[in-house]
Amino acid sequence: MRALLYTGEGRIELSHGVTVRGPQAGEVIVKIVACGLCRSDLSVVHGNIPWPAPAVLGHEGAGIVEEVGPGVTTVKVGDHVVMHTLANCGHCSPCESGKPTHCRESLGNRTTPFSLGDIPVSNFAATSAFAEYTVVKQDQVVVIDHDIPLNAACLIGCAVLTGVGAVLNRAKVQAGETAAVFGVGGVGLNAIQALVISGASRIIAIDTVAQKRGLAETFGATDFIDASQGDAAEQIRALLPHSKTQTIGTFGAGGVDWAFECTGSPIALKAGVAALNWGGTAVIVGVPPQGATIELPINAIAYVDRAVVGSRYGSSRPHHDIPMYLDFYRQGRLKLDELITKQYPLADFETAFADLEAGKLARGVLAF
Ligand SMILES: [Zn+2]
Ligand SMILES: [Zn+2]
Repeated sequence: MRALLYTGEGRIELSHGVTVRGPQAGEVIVKIVACGLCRSDLSVVHGNIPWPAPAVLGHEGAGIVEEVGPGVTTVKVGDHVVMHTLANCGHCSPCESGKPTHCRESLGNRTTPFSLGDIPVSNFAATSAFAEYTVVKQDQVVVIDHDIPLNAACLIGCAVLTGVGAVLNRAKVQAGETAAVFGVGGVGLNAIQALVISGASRIIAIDTVAQKRGLAETFGATDFIDASQGDAAEQIRALLPHSKTQTIGTFGAGGVDWAFECTGSPIALKAGVAALNWGGTAVIVGVPPQGATIELPINAIAYVDRAVVGSRYGSSRPHHDIPMYLDFYRQGRLKLDELITKQYPLADFETAFADLEAGKLARGVLAF
């Protein structure tokens, strides 16, 4: 079958000779119809996420159940599904308390379900959706209605769960609160539209590409800041001053209640912390290069209850969140189709990766 193979740092190629093993107990084979292209795939190719080669990348897939293994009871052949990456165990303490992203089995699932001749080929993010067929646990697929377009649904698997979940699950933003979102890409746009759902009173989008303004506003941003034109924190504070006469009050009063850093840039995270009001929280959503650090102003955080927190995969509970997000989609409250900047045939993957790298895409989708 056709699959995109990561073959070592800086290299990805289209192979026609990859095979996938059959489903074991509790597993299903999914025929992939569409898969979004995410910066995490690019990070593997660039060596920022260390991963053994060869591997089949792709972790934002949707498709149709092709085959089920012994003991599979929750899905059947022909079901349309969105896949999620957690592969959590389902019965440990975090799983049973509604925190599958804290399940120890939900990270680092490196197996070799694929082969290229005699060579074992690794999975990625427990999904590997840049292939015509993949094998996942039955709990990793969420059945969706047949009328939901799979090329839009696939984006739920990473960008939507990560961006919307950061706002609704991790931060639990309240109506009337204010927020800044750094990075108008697939994840940032989903944070923006979740802030609209939350009833945030100001949603300030920040990007270094001025042309992203229109996209940010389409998804619900109330303000746009071009971070290439001066200090982002200063520009945020100018929009949300402490008072009519004073931009910054005692101990940095003024600014936003929430800063969502969706780019993986330590500079953006620092600006997010610098833009926080008293009691404000910076949420780290984007993944920086391995080992990245920033210096934090400890007193400014400690004295007035500011915080910096991580958010992995939107603290998602996929079987709860994905049907809810699709309800929002049907009601016109969550945009999915508009996230797709461009759709590419699998053979055009090099263009798709280059467009992602050049910052041209909200989301690019590979169609099989
Ligand atoms: Zn991703
Ligand atoms: Zn578990």
